[in-house]
Amino acid sequence: MRLASVSGRATVLAGADGGGDVRGVEVARASEGRFGPDVAALYPVWEAFREWAGSVDPAGGDPIDPAALGNPAPAPAQVFAIGLNYHDHAAEAGLQVTRGAVPPTFTKFPASLSGPFAPVALPSDKVDWEIELVAVIGRRAERVPAAEAWTYVAGLAVGQDYSERAVQMVGPAPQFSLAKSFPGFGPIGPWLVTPDELDDPDDLELVCEINGEQVQKGRTSAMVWSLPDLISVLSGVCPLRPGDVIFTGTPAGVGMARKPPWFLAAGDVVVSRIQGIGEIRQECLAGN
Ligand code: ZN
Repeated sequence: MRLASVSGRATVLAGADGGGDVRGVEVARASEGRFGPDVAALYPVWEAFREWAGSVDPAGGDPIDPAALGNPAPAPAQVFAIGLNYHDHAAEAGLQVTRGAVPPTFTKFPASLSGPFAPVALPSDKVDWEIELVAVIGRRAERVPAAEAWTYVAGLAVGQDYSERAVQMVGPAPQFSLAKSFPGFGPIGPWLVTPDELDDPDDLELVCEINGEQVQKGRTSAMVWSLPDLISVLSGVCPLRPGDVIFTGTPAGVGMARKPPWFLAAGDVVVSRIQGIGEIRQECLAGN
């Protein structure tokens, strides 16, 4: 199942797996008010919603305007983000990753989250890109073993972990959470894809392009901590709640690591694509 927020209304999609026209059935209307319209309200009742959604045929729905797509996980109680979760990215940052007891973890404050095509106003000339697989939790997870972790995932989406590197690296201690939480720094979308839609949800190709030039390319199978590992270790500390979001880290190719460094400028267009899910796109605007 593919689920979107279309003009703020939860919508089950057809044709969103590439190629043809995307069509959708609005959840609140089709369920006669049993579910929706707020997509965030579906995660606490995810199992019942999934069962109901299986009875819907979205191919007979209305055409979807991509410009109307919003964040499919717009109100998480908690947002987790993982640093240095790909060996090639850690290496380009000059760091060697040894897998310790917990992965480097920070948050993107929820005010930074946005829809898949929302433009990003650059607060400085030090804004960098990080394509990431995003997971949304579908049921409360507390001390979950990795072997069971996928059953706690409502679905996956494409995310960008935009990062302002001057704030991130400021002294006396790095400020990952603030630096990655400017408005628009957490686009998610273009829709949520349930894991059963993917041939192998543990091995998805991620590609990021700037103005058509490929800058990042990796596979989620190369993560230091896989998504099940992350759910296991995070839920061992904080119980995960329905609708919570996990940004799972980025592969090599960020701008900060380049020689010379490369940061985003007004007019740049950032496209982030994950195999089997879709792509999101932001235009960078001059900041205030
Ligand atoms: Zn990141």
